[in-house]
Amino acid sequence: MSADVQFHGLRGQLRANEPMSRHVTWRAGGPAKRFFQPADLEDLSMFLGQLPGEEPVLFVGLGSNLLVREGGWPGTVVLTHGSARPPRMEEGLLYAEAGLACPKVARFAADQNLGSAEFLSGIPGTIGGALAMNAGCYGGETWDLVERVVTINRRGQLRRRARAEFETGYRRCELSSDASSEGDEWFASAHLKLPEGDREESRAIMKALLSKRRSTQPLQFPNAGSVFRNPSEGKTAARLIQSSGLKKLERGGARISEKHANFIVNPHGAASAADIEWLILHVQERVEAEKGVLLVPEVKIVGDPA
Ligand SMILES: Cc1cc2nc3c(=O)[nH]c(=O)nc-3n(C[C@H](O)[C@H](O)[C@H](O)COP(=O)(O)OP(=O)(O)OC[C@H]3O[C@@H](n4cnc5c(N)ncnc54)[C@H](O)[C@@H]3O)c2cc1C
Repeated sequence: MSADVQFHGLRGQLRANEPMSRHVTWRAGGPAKRFFQPADLEDLSMFLGQLPGEEPVLFVGLGSNLLVREGGWPGTVVLTHGSARPPRMEEGLLYAEAGLACPKVARFAADQNLGSAEFLSGIPGTIGGALAMNAGCYGGETWDLVERVVTINRRGQLRRRARAEFETGYRRCELSSDASSEGDEWFASAHLKLPEGDREESRAIMKALLSKRRSTQPLQFPNAGSVFRNPSEGKTAARLIQSSGLKKLERGGARISEKHANFIVNPHGAASAADIEWLILHVQERVEAEKGVLLVPEVKIVGDPA
């Protein structure tokens, strides 16, 4: 982290050595050297504008796809969740700020009689995280819904970008190489274009999707969803892990879920990030040895080892 900086005019919460275990769904991991939860987008802009240019910055939404190693994040974590205004309609498009929780956006869309956003109800992350990951499930993907976004850069400047400026795919989103950019950019908001729907029908779909999740995923324990990407259509990571005999494998306080082999759970809240990472690497090695498939993590692993 850069030497001490005196920030001026901020309204959000600025802290040092914030335990990231409080902000990720695995409930494990090391601290962020500097941590900022802006009051709103203007506050975020003000903060980034004062942050030294060389400081490593990590945006975090709900931390539902994130492992921060024990040594922690060596720079600033910006926590977007908790700072977003409610969703609203603007010129026929659904406007959602990056820090909004996906289920909230799904419910708002349904209330507006708009369809296709039902799948977001089961994704326990933010819109910013869903854009970064191109989160999706049950046939829907975040970028299928996007008309345009606003990004924010290191100097705190906002920039409107069209959907066509991004290359997206399965759990992937990058600024296209043709798009001009002056360095790091993060998502500040999105405008979603949704087809007409029916409130009751959307609610019924969301209810069915959630009950499917509850019956197939270990939602009672801290976890980060699917740990590995599915290697191909029809070849799921869960099946490969299960048939390699790895279900219920434990390391420290972390365990491969019995209910869903592509989930690693922290049942007693006692796992370290190192326990979880050990399981990830071990699963990779064993599945490659047994099945000849190298599983690629979907979760983001960041920070310094202890
Ligand atoms: C129980 C459970 C079920 C899940 N089911 C699914 C599923 O069905 N489908 C699916 O795709 N995922 C699923 N996930 C994973 C996760 O919810 C998604 O990846 C989600 O989009 C992550 O959002 P987040 O806000 O939590 O991101 P975080 O975990 O906070 O961050 C994830 C990545 O996004 C980046 N990021 C976050 N915010 C921004 C921003 N504003 N701008 C730029 N980058 C940003 C982070 O730096 C990091 O690299 C599940 C997770 C859990 C715990």
